[in-house]
Amino acid sequence: MIHYKSIEDIESIRESSLLVAKTHALLAMEIRPGITSLSLDRLAETFIRDHGGVPAFKGYQGFPYTLCVSPNEVVVHGFPRNEPLREGDIVSIDCGVLKNGFYGDSAYTFGIGEIPCPVARLLRTTYESLYLGIEQLMVGNTLGDVSWTIQRHAEKAGYSVVRELVGHGLGRQLHEPPELPNYGKKGQGEPVRNGLVVAIEPMINQGRRFVMQESDGWTIRTADRKPSAHYEHTVAVVNGKAEILSSFELIEQALKENNHNSFIIR
Ligand code: MG
Ligand code: MG
Repeated sequence: MIHYKSIEDIESIRESSLLVAKTHALLAMEIRPGITSLSLDRLAETFIRDHGGVPAFKGYQGFPYTLCVSPNEVVVHGFPRNEPLREGDIVSIDCGVLKNGFYGDSAYTFGIGEIPCPVARLLRTTYESLYLGIEQLMVGNTLGDVSWTIQRHAEKAGYSVVRELVGHGLGRQLHEPPELPNYGKKGQGEPVRNGLVVAIEPMINQGRRFVMQESDGWTIRTADRKPSAHYEHTVAVVNGKAEILSSFELIEQALKENNHNSFIIR
């Protein structure tokens, strides 16, 4: 059953989602060749707790960290590591926060220094597919319209859509109904209603769509070891239209101030 949210609930989810965005912005200031993702994880946990939140992923079904850090061929759910990030890597950083009883969830794929042009194109297309999907989240449409739009944009560019992992409702739980796949058919699935809150999170592969789980029980990587990109916003439906509750503006402002990052989408 889908829990449609009140305006008050949505404001609480916005507060949690903005704390995720501020955490991402803090990481964007620090991310550069040579830094370890484990040090980013520590920064993120301290920042979230200092701002009255709880890291949502830490302890979730036994996940041991604040951040999911997924470089290059890792799609999602990678562990932060005590190994330096390298120039030319891409790395998806997924972060969730619980604050005042409500969750926020957002992910951003960073380019470390100069990244190869074909990989930059993968990031840009994935990012565009997220925003095109969000535009379809309106009363009068169904969730299938969102899914179809994301899939079409990614596949038109020659990429493939991961099927095994999907977007989701959220609120008092990190993962609630409905599921929101990044592939689907126009006009199918649940009708979009006011009060719906979902995490929309395209996971788009440069190569084939197939994924594998590593022996750590968490890390999901592409079967062909080609790169994968991932962007995620928490989005509410208010007055018939999508309202993005997380924020990439804060992240991108921080990237502009961090001279170590040459790759910025906008
Ligand atoms: Mg997430
Ligand atoms: Mg999510």
